[in-house]
Amino acid sequence: MAVPPADFIGFACAYTPLPVIAAAGGAPYRVLPMTESPDQAGRMLHDNICPHVKRILDRAIDRDLPELRGMVFVNSCDAMRRLYDAWRRVDGAAPSVLIDLPPTADESAVAFFAGEIERLARTVESWCGRTIDRSKLSKAVEQHNVLCDRVDALTRRVEAGTLEGGWSRLQAALNLAATTPFDAALKHLDGLLGEAPADRRRASDPPIFLFGNVLPDPDAHALFEACGARIVGEDMCTGSRTFTRIDSDSTEDSCRLLAASLLRRPRCARTFDASDPGRMSQDVLDAVKRSGAKGAICHTVKFCDPYLVRLPLVREALQREGYPLLVLEGDCTLRSMGQHRTRIEAFAEMLR
Ligand code: SF4
Repeated sequence: MAVPPADFIGFACAYTPLPVIAAAGGAPYRVLPMTESPDQAGRMLHDNICPHVKRILDRAIDRDLPELRGMVFVNSCDAMRRLYDAWRRVDGAAPSVLIDLPPTADESAVAFFAGEIERLARTVESWCGRTIDRSKLSKAVEQHNVLCDRVDALTRRVEAGTLEGGWSRLQAALNLAATTPFDAALKHLDGLLGEAPADRRRASDPPIFLFGNVLPDPDAHALFEACGARIVGEDMCTGSRTFTRIDSDSTEDSCRLLAASLLRRPRCARTFDASDPGRMSQDVLDAVKRSGAKGAICHTVKFCDPYLVRLPLVREALQREGYPLLVLEGDCTLRSMGQHRTRIEAFAEMLR
């Protein structure tokens, strides 16, 4: 599908307040770590840094990006901060901003993050040359939620085995929705939802829950199916996590609403509940149970400290309840996923 021209503003994290970009007339463009660009990030970043940020930097250096009005970085981890530092030294790279993301979701964190969202709004206004007011932000939140509902409906179809192409096709649709202006993205998702139901139920394959961070390649999701793993639910940074509804109560301050909705969605590994340190393990366990899975696969990119630190506790929580866990480490290439084929096949076989 041809992408219509737009004032694209780049982002790289599922915590980015996308409606702020749309409210200024910009189109959010997720810079996904999918590219044929040569490895050049090593000139500016340490080799042992997460390949997610390295591939994004490779795209910037190689100018493998649409014209961007600006680039929004969320201070999710040390690697993302390093990327922000390096991005500003790339010739011709779009102006950028780094917004701080609290690791917790209590009242003071929400108030702080609301201030960061305000700051982002002022920056995006300067990039797009348009002002953001309450009604524009409310309309942008509404549009975002429409997309989220479509993504939700599409995910339900995939889980029920009635969308041709399954998770691989859903991932391709999510990538498109994260890199295309609202109207075109909505048209594409409605097109998929309008298709006649396919019968792709593979009841003989064991149901497995997929979680983790960065895995945007649709072919990687097709690989799970080819290995006999029936994915029945997912929670990935590059998956449905980007399309989580934002509360749209009309009385509250818009930035505060955005902040609370983003911080209080299901946690990823870099968010921390001081009152309940093992909370993420419980969230994963609850999601596995809800999905009806017999086991879980965690896909994380190499050197992702937030995820790698949390996995032992997650594994313990799952094992205590009899759910095996397979951990796959990748480098954002299909090649690295291919190397896991035998392990995925064996894991699926074990769960039959
Ligand atoms: S994948 Fe992990 S290390 Fe890389 S940017 Fe995301 S949270 Fe940070």
